[in-house]
Amino acid sequence: MAPIEPPQTHSCDIAIIGGGIAGLWLLNRLVHAGYNAILFEQTALGNDQTVASQGMIHGGIKYTLSGALTGASEAIADMPNHWRACLAGNGDVDLRGAATLSDCFYLWSSNSALSRMSTFLASKATRGRVNKVGKKDRPALFQHPEFSGSLYQLVDMVLDVPTVVKALADNHPDRIFKIDWAQASWQRLPNQSMAIDFQHNCHHFQLAPRQVVLSAGQGNEALLKELGITSPQMQRRPLQQVMVKHHHPHHFYGHCLGAETTPRLTISSHPCTDGSQVWYLGGTLAEKGAHQTAEEVIACAKRELADLMPWLDLSDARWASLPVDRAEPRQRNFARPDKAFASRAEGCANVIVAWPTKLTLSPNLADEVMALLRTMGIEPSCPGIPELDFLERPPLAPTPWQTAFGD
Ligand SMILES: Cc1cc2nc3c(=O)[nH]c(=O)nc-3n(C[C@H](O)[C@H](O)[C@H](O)COP(=O)(O)OP(=O)(O)OC[C@H]3O[C@@H](n4cnc5c(N)ncnc54)[C@H](O)[C@@H]3O)c2cc1C
Repeated sequence: MAPIEPPQTHSCDIAIIGGGIAGLWLLNRLVHAGYNAILFEQTALGNDQTVASQGMIHGGIKYTLSGALTGASEAIADMPNHWRACLAGNGDVDLRGAATLSDCFYLWSSNSALSRMSTFLASKATRGRVNKVGKKDRPALFQHPEFSGSLYQLVDMVLDVPTVVKALADNHPDRIFKIDWAQASWQRLPNQSMAIDFQHNCHHFQLAPRQVVLSAGQGNEALLKELGITSPQMQRRPLQQVMVKHHHPHHFYGHCLGAETTPRLTISSHPCTDGSQVWYLGGTLAEKGAHQTAEEVIACAKRELADLMPWLDLSDARWASLPVDRAEPRQRNFARPDKAFASRAEGCANVIVAWPTKLTLSPNLADEVMALLRTMGIEPSCPGIPELDFLERPPLAPTPWQTAFGD
């Protein structure tokens, strides 16, 4: 319906588009630094990649399986400690409301990859970050006499991701809004800045943020197109994860090393409300699975588990798969980015485009965005949250296993 009044114009320092881990973490950091920041989410908080992630906060070892440490894997090495400080209430973001699933995870080898792994783990690259686990200290799952590989413990951690999303959102509920793009649209202002127009009950409301940060994961691709931004660009890394719901008591978090430099299989364990748990399977299985049907990838997952853990009876388990894309900044040769990415958009005066590339690196992403703001001379200034109370609040996204198995 056409507006019947001239627009009411409001401002804020930063409008964040997308309420996954990147946008929520950034909101917390910006508000703490005094910025008047707000966040718009179109569906549910943590949707897409964040709740689909395995929650592993890597210290970099996984990324060094091909050999020596790179600069980027050194940069990631501090991340477990950074997250731990936040969980304890001593970090740059308050995560005291969030929980962890495990304080470590494991790296284990099938027999065929044993010698490569032993050489790697004996190298200087892994100093102090990996401990070999003696037979009696192995998790129950690997106490079985049929297990003949090696098991190492990484001093990395696993987050209960939905609790992290909730904790970040609960810190600033009044600054998070649900946006319905059928009722809102981008406007290019004469100074080439982007503003957002809202129509509500014949009222026309314009929000002209000093800076917009696009942190919408794969949603950035459509936003870049809509705003006519040609750089930066996005790439997708498609996966098809597998979920196994079962009643075994084993909670396990780990990577199985195979012949390739990415883990052959990654397992994380997630509690269900009915007392059972879901093993969530990724790694090479999910990368190859992206090009398979659900039946095919599930059949591969069954073969992998039967091969790696022949002692485990999963005949009563329920199986499902989840096709999901990782959204990343475009790289030459489709390489895997190993840093958080934030950059000013070409052609829009007030837009930053951001992808963390890993949940682990959300703190780095916020650092990058705040450094860009300082470079542009954008200091905290606008008081008062814009009056957007006509917008709803987004819910928290369900986990993939809640969606697949209904509990
Ligand atoms: C299967 C899988 C496993 C992973 N495991 C790990 C792991 O163990 N450890 C790790 O460090 N990383 C992991 N990752 C990577 C990690 O999940 C992502 O890097 C991270 O979650 C990306 O967060 P994000 O906030 O950028 O995007 P997302 O989590 O995708 O969030 C984007 C949000 O933006 C919203 N949105 C989209 N379009 C719009 C729009 N137009 N307007 C408003 N809102 C919009 C979406 O609804 C969504 O809520 C994994 C990724 C996948 C796919």
